[in-house]
Amino acid sequence: MPKKRGIVAGVDLGGTSIKAIVADRNYKILATGKKRTDAGVKAKALIHEIARVVEQAAADAGVKVKSLAAVSIGAPGAIDVKRGVVTEAPNLGWRNVPLGEGLRSRLGVPVVVDNDVNVGVMGEHALGAGARVAQLVGIFVGTGIGGGIICNGELYEGGHGWAGELGHTVLLADGPVCSCGRRGCAEALASRTAMERDVRDAVKSGRKSAVFDIMDERKKDRMTSSIIQVALAKEDPVMKEVMKRAQYYLGILVANVVNAFDPERVIVGGGIAERLGEDFVKPIRETAQEYFLHAKAVKGVKILPGKLGDDAGALGAVVLARKRLGL
Ligand SMILES: [Zn+2]
Repeated sequence: MPKKRGIVAGVDLGGTSIKAIVADRNYKILATGKKRTDAGVKAKALIHEIARVVEQAAADAGVKVKSLAAVSIGAPGAIDVKRGVVTEAPNLGWRNVPLGEGLRSRLGVPVVVDNDVNVGVMGEHALGAGARVAQLVGIFVGTGIGGGIICNGELYEGGHGWAGELGHTVLLADGPVCSCGRRGCAEALASRTAMERDVRDAVKSGRKSAVFDIMDERKKDRMTSSIIQVALAKEDPVMKEVMKRAQYYLGILVANVVNAFDPERVIVGGGIAERLGEDFVKPIRETAQEYFLHAKAVKGVKILPGKLGDDAGALGAVVLARKRLGL
C-alpha cells in the first residue's frame, strides 16, 4: 500500500556533499537531508553515507525506506544509465563504480542513476524555469560548467550517453587549461574555479581586491558563490572585472548553443545564478543576442536563471525516477 503513494527519494551527489530529499507524488518535499563528504573517500564508504542520508531523510518524512517507490540519484561524471554504473567521475576519483546496485542492495528499493547536470536540467524542465517547454538547454555554472539538453520534451542522452558536455565547448583555442586537460573550454574561462584563478592572478600582479579578506572573514578557502555575491555588493573592482569577463564567455557559449539547437529556453543554473539571479544572467543574455545567427531568436529564445536553486538536482532526480520507472 505505501508504495502506491509513490514517495521517491531524490539524491544530488556532489564532489563535497550529499543532498537527499523525500518527495511525494506532487513533488512536495517532505524532508531534506544533507551531509558534507570528505574528498577522496572510497566508493564503498560513500555509498554507505548516501544510504544513511536517504534513511535519515525518509525517517524525517515519516516513511519507511522499504516503502519508497524508488531512490534516484544524480552523480557527477559519465554514467552508464542502463546499468546504474558511474563509469568515470574525476571529482570523486571513481571508475566503474556500480552505484545503482550498491544502493539497491543496501536499501532494498529500485535505484535510478544519471548524470547530476542532466538530472538538474530535468528538474528545471519539469518544475522550475523550464515550464515543460519541448526544447530546452540548461547550463549549470559552478565548480565546473555542466550542460543538459531536453529535446522534444525528453532528455537527450546522445548516441553513447555523452551528450550535453557544453562546458567543454572550446571558446578560445589557446586559452587557459581546463579540467579536461584541453585549452580554452567554457569551463576554463567562466566557471567559479576559473573566476577564482583570475582573481588570484590579478591580486598576484598587484591589483587590490577584498575577495581574500572576505574569504578569511567567512573562513572559506574557496571563492564560493556567497563570497562572489559579497564582493560584488562591495563593488570590488577585480571581482567585477572577472565576473564581467566570465559573463561575456558564457554569453558566447549560450549563443553557440542557441545557434546549434534552437531551443525555446536556455536556463542558466548553479550557485552563482541562484544568488545573483537576473544580475548574473542579463549580461550573458545581452552578449548571446549579439551572436545569434537569426535575429528573430532575440525574441524567440528566452534565457533565464534557474528557479529551483540548490534543490534542482535532488528534485530532478525524483522527476527522473518517475519518468524512467513510470511512477
Ligand atoms: Zn574542458
